[in-house]
Amino acid sequence: MRKTILTTLIALTVFLGTAAKAQEEKRQLDAHEHGSGTFNIAIEGNEVEIELEVPGMDIVGFEHEASTDEQKATIEKARKLLLDGFSVFTLPAGAGCKITSRKVGVPGHDENNEHKKEEGKAHSEFHAKFGLECAAIEQLNTIAFPYFGNFSRAKELDVSVITEKAQAGFEVTGTSPEIDLGKVIK
Ligand SMILES: [Zn+2]
Repeated sequence: MRKTILTTLIALTVFLGTAAKAQEEKRQLDAHEHGSGTFNIAIEGNEVEIELEVPGMDIVGFEHEASTDEQKATIEKARKLLLDGFSVFTLPAGAGCKITSRKVGVPGHDENNEHKKEEGKAHSEFHAKFGLECAAIEQLNTIAFPYFGNFSRAKELDVSVITEKAQAGFEVTGTSPEIDLGKVIK
């Protein structure tokens, strides 16, 4: 039951994100804005699910498929850093959150990017997904983003938070890399 609700919440978030993106594409005829990524977090019970989608440009400085050894090494280094999870976000120690699942998709190696290639677009993204379990979820009242220190090309993240009771949006930047979840979580 719990899984079902969480999955629905995530599907809704993805749907809303997709609708917004479609509008954005109409305006700009562009797949994404360089410097700007999305970070979705769903909280239910003691479980947290996080999805990150960011332009390849923000992570490694290019979006074409890696062809040289140097580019391949750059992608692999970035993949490992993203896979750590806490290189992107940190949660209050008191919440006792542990990452229980993690996945990172890199440009040129995931379905979404293949679609874009077929459509003749040059853009590609990194996708990351994390599942966490928290011992004291009520202590999860802030999220900090070391992301901006680790990936200096990134300028902002559009953050969506969804819980059983509430939904909220934030914008975080390198100069303000933290959000207050106090009102959302309670
Ligand atoms: Zn791009």
